[in-house]
Amino acid sequence: MRRISIFAAAGLAAGFMLSTGIALAADAAANEPYSKTCRVTRARDNTIQNIEPAKIFDNLYLVGPCYVSVWLLTTPQGDILFDTAQEPFVDHVLDNIKKVGVNPRDIKYIILSHGHLDHVGGAAKIQEATGARIMAMEQDWQMMADIDGKTNNRDGGKPNRMPKKDMVIKDGDTLDLGGQHLIFHWTPGHTPGVTTTEGIKVYDNGVQHTAILMGGGGYRGGLKEAEQSLESAKKVAAIKGVEVNLMIHSWADPNGYPGGGVLERAMMLKDRKPGDPNPFVDPATWNMRAQAAITGAERAIEREKAKAAAPK
Ligand SMILES: [Zn+2]
Repeated sequence: MRRISIFAAAGLAAGFMLSTGIALAADAAANEPYSKTCRVTRARDNTIQNIEPAKIFDNLYLVGPCYVSVWLLTTPQGDILFDTAQEPFVDHVLDNIKKVGVNPRDIKYIILSHGHLDHVGGAAKIQEATGARIMAMEQDWQMMADIDGKTNNRDGGKPNRMPKKDMVIKDGDTLDLGGQHLIFHWTPGHTPGVTTTEGIKVYDNGVQHTAILMGGGGYRGGLKEAEQSLESAKKVAAIKGVEVNLMIHSWADPNGYPGGGVLERAMMLKDRKPGDPNPFVDPATWNMRAQAAITGAERAIEREKAKAAAPK
């Protein structure tokens, strides 16, 4: 499998340098952030997805692939993985975990943001490799059961292999491990059982910051879902003290780099000078996004109401 260093892409305007030394023409992507290429323009292109891992904080790593994020949080008492990507990228994620010096057997919990395949497709394999417990909301455990054995949309038609139902997260549940005190919120809309994780402590050269992992925004159609997404957006925006947004994908419209680009921030981090801030610490962009989610949900409700009122 060819690997792309996300850092090798910095400064290359017309293509991405692969570790094999091949410059890959990326016409459509020439002038856009790499995160957007991975997540939007060439999201379906498996050949660009296997990025190198990146250390983001003293205790937090991005372990790929590049369209959907898998985050690895380390603690002195075992580690926590947020999401699992999907095949055919799961071995690559496991390789990246080893590459940053973490023994997969030290991973104690796998927290699933929501039940879509791109986040949960690797959960069964990673559970086998780690022995970790898998945590998800009841509704999204049901989603996983429903896609078990169905055809994977990326992996050459192979059937999905979903994990057996394990730990069920309820709204307000907490998880304590190695100095972390994570708080889980039920924030449905995107799926029925989205999990948002509050209170993730990350350390930048020893200085503590507070991160959030919002488990999926927007809604999947329907007035009830739009209303749910508004409640969820308000709930998330009310969470205080968020400094770091651990995005579940490398890119999220509408506001682009640096707000939307996980990989761009990683490149900036790699190049930062002593004393420079960590580019992932960005409460202003987080607050803007949290407010925009509320506005977006309000508009969605109006749209759904107008649809319902339209003559049939
Ligand atoms: Zn999703």
